[in-house]
Order: sequence, then structure tokens, then C-alpha cells
Amino acid sequence: MQETYLCHKAKDLENHTIQQLKRLIEDADSFCITAHKSPDGDAVGSSLALAWYLKAIGKQATVVLPDGFADFLSFLPGAEEIITYEEHRERAEEVLNNSDLIFCLDYNHLNRTGAMQDVLAKEVGQKPFVLIDHHQNPADFPDVLISDTTSCSTAQLIYRVIDRMGDRDKIDQNAAKGMYCGIMTDSGSFRFPAVTPETHEIAADLIRKGADHAAIHRAVYDTNLLDRLRLVGYALSEKLVVMPEYHTAYISLSADELERFNYRPGDTEGLVNQALSIKGVNFAAFIREGNNQIKMSLRSQGQFRVNEIAAQYFNGGGHHNAAGGAVDAKLDDVIDTFREVVQKHRHDLNYEV
Ligand code: 5GP
Ligand code: MN
Repeated sequence: MQETYLCHKAKDLENHTIQQLKRLIEDADSFCITAHKSPDGDAVGSSLALAWYLKAIGKQATVVLPDGFADFLSFLPGAEEIITYEEHRERAEEVLNNSDLIFCLDYNHLNRTGAMQDVLAKEVGQKPFVLIDHHQNPADFPDVLISDTTSCSTAQLIYRVIDRMGDRDKIDQNAAKGMYCGIMTDSGSFRFPAVTPETHEIAADLIRKGADHAAIHRAVYDTNLLDRLRLVGYALSEKLVVMPEYHTAYISLSADELERFNYRPGDTEGLVNQALSIKGVNFAAFIREGNNQIKMSLRSQGQFRVNEIAAQYFNGGGHHNAAGGAVDAKLDDVIDTFREVVQKHRHDLNYEV
């Protein structure tokens, strides 16, 4: 197994990390690119962008994701060729098995790949793993580890890594679209604090390479189905609970309620931010009943660290202001727990942004 290189800031990406990665890429022919379960715009965009880059330098690359992604990401070039482990288990295992190198994008631990984690774990030590991510506390299994928790998105990191390998001109229009989509979605359309002048410089270059920013924004945000809009309307008018004395708001949706609006993956994306947008609210949650689990999305404005809350109470993790988790429990019990957690942390929540 190769030596592991850890870089907390890609700006300081050591030359030897880049050289090591370059060598690994040169030595391999076929690549498998993976990302986290319930893949979002950054996970899908980064994966496809990296695949297009690898194809541009004459390699084979296949994207294998744990499960499906929202319809609004299907406009991305190459999306139709993505293999999901959930639906095509055998094919996914075959690709993982036969590839010379496996990329792990936008996740920090194999357990973020859900049911796919055992298959991935079997390949560790058999072939090189390269992890590129912006979440905290990455695991140490990869042979090359590029972790920058200050980066607004994994897509931005992908751009920087390719740039540092001297291959910026190998980023074609297809790759540019994937990267732009990843940066745009993970940065809240360029408004989160993690956005830097460099983010805009990279976005500008991607637009020059043919990523149509208006078309991408429209495809992601303005292609709602009526069911989805009605679900969001219902959630906001009937299910939004504000706890003003605790600067907290939350929305919960049961499986029955989701069913009523023909819920599809991605339909509730962004709902938690609506709760957070209320004046005076520092902490917001979206609590959704899934197949066998309750899924939590936590967001905050300012100093309150939701990743600590997610880790301590909801079997999860994430970033300072955006985190999540999943618990095996009844929806009502999770809501009760959430309310207790809020009360317990009322002093931490009492501040003005
Ligand atoms: P979202 O609320 O959009 O699903 O997730 C926001 C962030 O929280 C993700 O980028 C990820 O960092 C983190 N996150 C979400 N769900 C989980 C989870 O089940 N486990 C862990 N460790 N982190 C999660
Ligand atoms: Mn991301």
C-alpha cells in the first residue's frame, strides 16, 4: 500500500501529493468513481466531471453511486451512464472489481456509501483508493487523501487538482458543466461563507469552457413538478414549527405525507433552508421519515455547530453550519428528542447573527 498524503488545504497541496496522484492515474487504465449515498449536485457533478477529464486523457471511467439522484441532475452530460448499486448490484460490483483505481468523492468515510460500503471495503488494499473531499475528519484508508474542509465543494477541489496536475486545458465542456453544477449547488448559488474569490475565478473559467450558468441554474432550480411545489407548500404552511424562544425552527414529514405528494428523491431538498431563513432563527431542522430510518437535515447560521449536534444525538456529522444524520426510531420520538436537544442547548442558541 502506498504512503498516504493528507492535505488540509489544497492551496498547500504538496507537490508530492499531486505527483503521486499523477503517477497513479498514468499507471491505470480503468477508473471507478464513487460518491456518497443520496448523491447531491456536488456528488454527481464532481463524479461526472472527473469522469470526463479521465476520458479526455484517454482513460476509461465509470461512475458508480450507491443509489439514485434527483431528476433535476439528469441534464448533466453522462448522467444516463451512471450505475447505481441499488438498482444494478452485479454490474456495480463488476466495475468496482475490474477497475484499476477507485475514486471516493464528496465523502469522508466508507459508511457514507450505505449498502455499498462492504463491497468497497473489500477492494481496499487490492487497488489504490483516492479520496477527494471537503468534509471533516476523513478516514485514513485512501492511498491518496486530498481533504480541504474550507472548500465550498468537492467540485472546486476537483478543478484545483486537475489544474495542479497541469491539465486545465483537458477540462472540456462536459466536465465544466459537472463542476459548475457541483460548485453552484454546494455553495447555495455562490452565497455561503465558504465561497471565496477563487470560487468565482474557477466558475468564470468553467463558463468560458462552455458551462452555461443560466441553463444550469434553470435545470436545477426551475424544473419543479407540481407535486413537489405542493409538497413544499404543505410543509411550509402546515408542518413548520417555530420555537422562537430557542431561535429554532423545524419541519417534519411522515412517510404518509410524502406519499400523498408522490415524493421523489430531491423533492425536499432546500426545505430546511426555508426554515432557517426565518428572521431570528439560528438553527433549523428537516426531519423526514424514510424507508427504515428517520433522516435529519440540520442547518445553522452563525456560531452554533450543527455537526456536533448531528454526531452527538443523531448518528451523523457534517459541517459547522450544515449537517445531517439518520436514526432508527419512530418519527414522533425523534421529534421529541430534537425538541429536548434544542432546550438543552438553549444558551448556545441565544445569539444574534
Ligand atoms: P443534507 O442535510 O443535505 O442531507 O446533508 C448536509 C451535510 O450533512 C452533508 O453534506 C453531509 O456532510 C452531512 N450528512 C448528511 N447526512 C449525514 C449522515 O447520515 N451521516 C453523516 N456523517 N453526515 C451526514
Ligand atoms: Mn459536497
